[in-house]
Amino acid sequence: MTQPKRIVVVGGVAGGMSCAARARRLDETAEIIVLERGPHVSFANCGLPYYIGGEITDPAKLLVQTPASLRAALNLDVRPQHAVTGVDSSRRVVFVEGPSGPLELSYDALVLSPGAVAIRPPITGLDSPRVQTVRTVDDALTVAQLATAGSPAVVLGAGFIGLEVAEALATRGLAVTVVELAEHVLPPLEREMAQPVEAELARLGIEVRTGVAAVGIEDPSPVESVETQPSSPVETFETPSPPAIVRLADGSTLPADLIVLSVGVRPDTDFLIGSGVALDRAAIVVDEHGRTSVGGIWAVGDAVASTHAVTGANRPVALAGPANRAGRLVADDIVRPGSARPIPRPVGTAIVRVGDLAVAVTGANSAELTRAGRAFTTLHLHPNQHAGYFPGAQQLRLLLHVAPDDGRLLGAQAVGADGVDKRIDVLATAIRAGLCVGDLIDLDLAYSPPYGQAKDAVNLAGMVGSNVLDGTLRLWYAADLDQVLAEALVLDVRSAAEVATGTLPGALTIPHTELRGRLAEVAAAADGRPVRVFCASGVRSAIAHRVLTQAGFDSASLSGGMLTLRAHLGATADDVLVTPVTV
Ligand code: FAD
Repeated sequence: MTQPKRIVVVGGVAGGMSCAARARRLDETAEIIVLERGPHVSFANCGLPYYIGGEITDPAKLLVQTPASLRAALNLDVRPQHAVTGVDSSRRVVFVEGPSGPLELSYDALVLSPGAVAIRPPITGLDSPRVQTVRTVDDALTVAQLATAGSPAVVLGAGFIGLEVAEALATRGLAVTVVELAEHVLPPLEREMAQPVEAELARLGIEVRTGVAAVGIEDPSPVESVETQPSSPVETFETPSPPAIVRLADGSTLPADLIVLSVGVRPDTDFLIGSGVALDRAAIVVDEHGRTSVGGIWAVGDAVASTHAVTGANRPVALAGPANRAGRLVADDIVRPGSARPIPRPVGTAIVRVGDLAVAVTGANSAELTRAGRAFTTLHLHPNQHAGYFPGAQQLRLLLHVAPDDGRLLGAQAVGADGVDKRIDVLATAIRAGLCVGDLIDLDLAYSPPYGQAKDAVNLAGMVGSNVLDGTLRLWYAADLDQVLAEALVLDVRSAAEVATGTLPGALTIPHTELRGRLAEVAAAADGRPVRVFCASGVRSAIAHRVLTQAGFDSASLSGGMLTLRAHLGATADDVLVTPVTV
């Protein structure tokens, strides 16, 4: 009889526990040991901000499984408080620091899913106990205890987790400021998609400081570190005054009783140095089955370098879905070598709630496409999430990047109060399937008035995209505004009431319904210049563009209309736009 295989898993949360559970379902005989450095396994890291904000009230709910439940259900040997400190791949052993001291553990198959740790940028004073990260259940308990209503808090980093935590703290009554080095919040978003998010943060009472770095923290009276137990009730924690001071690179300062560091993560792989496992900028190098450079060792999750499905860029993708699915496929490769499906390249689909908005991305953004040397055409749409005549209709902001040659879908972003998740998930599926923008027209999507439109937002994106690709529609962009104002006649085809809310300087204003009868006016005003037309969202200007083109004008329609233009201009919109005296 052959010896049962021993599978050792490092890291007992998303990727590691998915792998261990799947391995057991495939192989009842294997000995499966999960080594977890922290006190908890299978905890809901994605739920931590919602505990801080009070939507999840019982911290025990964050502990999805326990070693005892995993033993009972799956016969897993789960060992919390066991940190792996090194790997000797020649002897197939891991070195472990456990509650009763160091030990060596042999393995037949070793799976690494150690995740990531918070990046600590070069900011002086980061060691203050007021500075917290939100990575673990205990982190969330500590932040919740330090969060005193009415006191000032600073969140460093306006990424997905930073904004979730900022909103959570604001919900608890703290005066929150978010500091972000990039030009806008949620840096993966295009600028025009981030602007409504910043407006929503302002509505929530959260101050946003973008385009500036934090450089130092001065803490006159450090607070005592907080001991937490997930089962213990959250107690109010009195923070002593005066608050710490966060210094920004522009010379300004922010008071803070609590500072949350959320500027990104890096693979937690220091324990692999010297193990022979190949690393690339700290990320574990793996093949399409999650196999590392060393035989018998696999790796998944935030700690590995993944190849992006659209750009081919090789870097860690810190998302729960890819980690969970890769863990499952690695178990297949260990237990059923030769027949396991390869791990799909991540598309990078993510979503976050900010106040009343949902914000979601999939595929690549313009910066990633530019870095990868990929040409792209961008579409902006503002369709309703469901039938306009049905109560509660709201506009979505939808952005697509498509390849100009074959129309392949490269990336999409959506912001709105309702229906965002549905559209991004359809578009993520389309990217995974390699669909072109014209294929979106043909998707049969669920429709009745409360849920969608007979021409769903995704179908409409397909129609706009295929019109652009075949030349039926020609677009101009908010980013080209200066050149357009200098070289073209700008034609505003909105109603007089809309024009009165602000138009572009020098614009000729003719409602689109009157355009056919007033083409001579357009020709006289253009005087040989191209005509660049716009409306509120891009629908009426597309109609006007077709009228103008067929009348012989050099015409183009503003992608996304005034809604996108205003979002692109942001705070400068009021300086650029003019209000005509008479229309
Ligand atoms: P993890 O799940 O982080 O697990 C790694 C584990 O390994 C850790 O528990 C760690 O203690 C342990 N470990 C590390 N080194 C060792 C060692 N040497 N020995 C033993 N154990 C070790 N993703 C989404 O897709 N959607 C979300 O909404 C979302 N929200 C998030 C919110 C927060 C606050 C956080 C922190 C993350 C969020 N994520 C979200 C990201 C998601 O949780 C991660 O991408 C995912 O958990 C990665 O899985 P992993 O197995 O690689 O690492």
